[in-house]
Parts: sequence; structure tokens; C-alpha cells
Amino acid sequence: MTHVILFGIDGATYRILGPLIEDGALPGFQELMQDGSYGILESTIPPYSVTAWTSAFTGVNPGKHGLIDSIMKINDKFIVTTSKYREVETIWYELKRKKKQTIIVNDPSCYPPEPIGIHITGFLTPKTSENYVYPPELKKELDKVAKQYVPELDKYALPTDLNSKYEQLSDQSRKVHKVSKHLANNYPWNIFAVIFTTTDRIQHIMWHKPEYLKKHYQEIDSYLREILNIASREEADIILMSDHGFKSASKMFFINSFLHKHNYLKLKTRESKIAMKRNLPKYVLKYKTLVRVVKYLTPKVIKNKIFQRDNLIDKIDFEKSLAYAITHYSLYINYNTCESTILTKLIKELSETNVCRVLTRDEVVWGPFSNRAPDIYLIPKGNTAINAGQIDAKGSSSSDDFAILPHERGIHELDGIVILWGPRVKKGNKVIRAKIWDIAPTLLALSNCAIPSYFDGKPLQSLKNIHIQLIKKSPRFFLKEKIRKIKKKKL
Ligand SMILES: [Zn+2]
Repeated sequence: MTHVILFGIDGATYRILGPLIEDGALPGFQELMQDGSYGILESTIPPYSVTAWTSAFTGVNPGKHGLIDSIMKINDKFIVTTSKYREVETIWYELKRKKKQTIIVNDPSCYPPEPIGIHITGFLTPKTSENYVYPPELKKELDKVAKQYVPELDKYALPTDLNSKYEQLSDQSRKVHKVSKHLANNYPWNIFAVIFTTTDRIQHIMWHKPEYLKKHYQEIDSYLREILNIASREEADIILMSDHGFKSASKMFFINSFLHKHNYLKLKTRESKIAMKRNLPKYVLKYKTLVRVVKYLTPKVIKNKIFQRDNLIDKIDFEKSLAYAITHYSLYINYNTCESTILTKLIKELSETNVCRVLTRDEVVWGPFSNRAPDIYLIPKGNTAINAGQIDAKGSSSSDDFAILPHERGIHELDGIVILWGPRVKKGNKVIRAKIWDIAPTLLALSNCAIPSYFDGKPLQSLKNIHIQLIKKSPRFFLKEKIRKIKKKKL
């Protein structure tokens, strides 16, 4: 019987790990890297956590699993991404069919919990939901192990002072560790996965405070050492990974202000607002009702993240604009108002700013759900962050599309980390060009399961004594898309 542990650390980066390991501050990580294989794990574009973790757990690019970005366009409507729109099954289902027992704690890619073993959801769990454990009867037991466990802390309800903020986040990860250790020690498993997301939150809030970053990585290191003991006991292999990396930004580029300045983006005028009201049914359905529904249904964490840009989005005249950004990474072209040559022109102008890599949809995603993707993807270069916000309160454009940040900020970058360790991992093999969707096939290979042919990923080269089998298989796309379409036709 095989045993595999997936130790996920949201946003972990060698930028922080490297110097701390050199100082001898992280003995757990150090042991894992010395006795195993490691390298960079490239995230999805965009390196948005839900998108990236879903690729890790499905083995495919976002164009096949469907969760393109934090907001995406489905049937001409913008929706906030939830796992409801994931269109392909995760590997946990295949592992279950192969009679493997799975435990997943703090899954950032999914809500509600799925009947795939023991499953505890994380980040996507709505704030008031008590339904984050499968099987549900396990919740009582877990409440005793970690009192007042919540799947995700409300970032905006955290205390203002940094110290208390840190304590709350640190306490959250301690609970995740307690619960996962309890489950790993008391329930049978072949695959045991735990994901820490507080690293990402702390790096977002405290990037300019290295003492907190160090402290938190040391806490995670102590949890890792306990997991290493469990791994040794069970002769388990470990996949330690992050879903994306983190880097410094000292400047902010406001993409919508840039588009406005260059006449791609139009703001609503008094007349256009009146016209829009006349045009209500179409417009309301397309956007406003959606915003309300989404606000109501979305967990607060995501809601605040998205709707702090509410003012701006409310001001954009979507019908007259040639192009606009909805998230920091994605730009849409309104082909109703312009010719297709605009794409080339805009790409050229954006590239000339030298603040971002500019890619077209076809360069980033492929598969049946690529039509949810934006026309242009932006990847921040150097130390500039990209923001879809800005344009000042009066509705006129901010004259500047750049701002210097008051202090260095941590932003997501593509290069995350992967460390493999265990009896079936080569020692000192460098992991090269690993993609996040290679995680699913690596996990299947370590579990002696065949790799489906529709996967984009392949098992990492660092494994040894494993016979890798491939199996011709088409993705088990969920039927939801079809059902949605049928329902729509009936209406
Ligand atoms: Zn993340």
C-alpha cells in the first residue's frame, strides 16, 4: 500500500525560504531539500490561488477545468469564480475509484466539501457556513480538537494592529495543523493533503515586515517536521508545493486608467446612464443584478477583494468601451465596438509600457472552456504591480496611471516551489520546468495509479522505482454545463 503526503503552502517562495534556510532557521525544509529533489513550480496564468490549486488537483490547464480567474465571463456575463464552475473532476475521484483513502484539510479550491474521503474546505467556504466537513458527522470531533475552527479568517475583520493580526493568522494555521495531525494519526489514509493558506495572507499584509515572515515560516517548518515524522512512520513520499510564488512590488500600474487615457475605456456620462436605464433589462441582467447576486453569495474575503473596485467598475461604460480590465490580470476587448486589429494595437501599446508581459488568450489556455478567458493576459514585470482599480471618486480619470507604493508590497508571481522527498524520490535531482498541472499526475504515479491521457501534466522526473502507466481517457467533464445549456433553452 502506498502513502503520499501533499503539504501545500499557499504563496511559498524561495525568495523567503532560501535566505532562511541558509541561516539554518528552517531545519524541516532543509532536511527535505537535502534528501529529496526540488525546483521551481510554475503556476497558472494568472497565478490566482483557486485557478492554480484546481490545476494542481485536476492535472489540466484552466481552459480545460474552467476556473480561469477570480472573475470570468460565461455566456457574456461576468461571474465570480467558485468551484461550481469547475468542469472536470479532481484526482480525488479517480483515487476513490481505485479504493485509495484520502484526507484533505483546508482545500482552497473547493466548496462545498465533496464525498471523496475526508474533505475539509477552506478559502471558498462562505463566512457563515458550518458545512465545510465531509463526512459531516466528523465536525463535532474536529471542534474538540481545534476549538472555534473556521475555514478562513475574514481578512477585513482582523484587528488593525499588526501584532494581533499576526497572532490570529498564526492561530489559524496552528488549528489547521492540529486538525490535520489528528486526522493523519487517527484515520487510515493513502493520500493525506494539508494546505496552509496563512502564508499567502501574511505575505500580502506583512511583506515589508521580514520578522513576521520569518516567524511564520518557522511555525510552518515546525508543522512540517511533525509531518516528516508521520511520513517516516508510514514510509510515505512527500510532495511539498506552493500554488504560486511571491515577489516585491514598489510601484502600481493602474490598467484601467491607462486604457482610459489611451481612449480604449469610456466612462459613463449622464446621458449614457439615462440610456442605460432605458435599456434596463439587458443591462441589468448583464451586470447589475449579477453584481448584487454575486455580492450576496460570495464569501466575504473574495467579496471585499473584488468590490473594493466597485466604484470603478460602476463607472465603466461597458457598451462604449473598446477594452477594459476586470481583474488585475485580464483584459477584455469589446469586439462590438471595434475592429479585430485593435488587439494587435493594444498589445503593442501595453508592451511599450514595459511593466507587463502581454499574452493573448491562445498563448495561455486551451480546451473547451477557453472561451471564458479574457482576450489579453497581463503578467507584471519587475517590481510593478498591476491593479484594475483607480479612476478617482468624481468619475474623471486619474491623471496618472502609475503610483509609487508607500512601502514594498508582496504580490503573486508565477514561480512557486516544489520539493519531493521520500522512499520513491531521487536524492539531489533538480526539478526543471515543472508546471503546476504536473502535480496531479505525480500524485497518481506515487499512488500507483495510471495517468489519464487528457492530462496536460506529466509526472515529475524526480521519481524512482515507479512504473508509470498511461491510460487513454477523456475527461469526465461534469454534466453541469450541458444541464445549464438545456435549462437556458427551455427558458
Ligand atoms: Zn495562492
